[in-house]
Amino acid sequence: MSDNKDKVYLIGAGPGDTDLITVKGAKILKQSDVVIYDYLVNLDILKKYANPKSELICADSLTLKRYSNGFSKRQDLINKLIIKKVKEGKKVVRLKNGDPFIFGRANEELKSLLDNKIKFVVIPGVTAATGASCFSGIPLTSRDVSSSVVFITGHQATERDMNWEAISKIDTIVIYMGAENLKDIFDKLIKSGIDSNKPVAIISNATKINQNIIISSLKKIDRIKAESPAIIIIGDVVKKEKYFNWFKKSKKILFTGLSEERFFEDGIYFHIPFIEIKPLSDYSNLKNILKEIETYDWIVF
Ligand code: SAH
Repeated sequence: MSDNKDKVYLIGAGPGDTDLITVKGAKILKQSDVVIYDYLVNLDILKKYANPKSELICADSLTLKRYSNGFSKRQDLINKLIIKKVKEGKKVVRLKNGDPFIFGRANEELKSLLDNKIKFVVIPGVTAATGASCFSGIPLTSRDVSSSVVFITGHQATERDMNWEAISKIDTIVIYMGAENLKDIFDKLIKSGIDSNKPVAIISNATKINQNIIISSLKKIDRIKAESPAIIIIGDVVKKEKYFNWFKKSKKILFTGLSEERFFEDGIYFHIPFIEIKPLSDYSNLKNILKEIETYDWIVF
């Protein structure tokens, strides 16, 4: 059985929490030679799951500034790099934040692979909307107040021909890439007939140790300062936050030891290991230690 290296994996890394990548995504990362990742991907995911010998390349380091040459230039460089690495016979993973098929620009990358006759596999990820929703206790749908949900982008949303009338009729509105554009977006929604008292939640750094949540309403926008990256949820489901926000109510523990799996202990554990186990470069001292140990009656580790 020979490896088929002429195949690229497009994987969703999830919104931030290192354990929110799929099991499949983590297994593939372990076998990678090259990982090209986006700036929003939590680097701890790479430390934890990527093959330690894998070459790690931040896609956003390819251009000096992320937006300096426009998105198409950046995208072009990423496409070329993926193809170059595949042609070198490397096992390439393209790691995207969240889910690769939700505001992930996957279209451009897959098209370039198709054009170059390179096979691909797409592995889903937890998208920021569901990550933020679960980690803030705001269900996106709820039988009593919401039977519809829409995901929109706030980036250039006000320039684009968006159907604000239709969007404003959806029970729950989730906005990606909207933190810098909040006032414009909220104005459009209010003009389209949405009640300006509608509750709004802004969840920044969702699922991460520094997750922050602001609860407000559409009309109080002037008082809101949103920190990026943020997911904005608009709708009556936001009222559930005060009951279900388990994350805010939990004790948070920064755990610096080796083992991280303390899911059923009190509090939420965030793992930043200060200790690492590595093979020694020289084992010559081991013989002496073993000799000494032989003289003991018993040993406890
Ligand atoms: N493909 C990604 C979205 C990429 S667009 C996904 O499925 O989640 C980038 C936007 O995602 C950000 O502007 C922000 O709106 C959102 N986002 C990503 N990570 C986030 C996080 N940890 N907390 C809040 N929003 C996040």
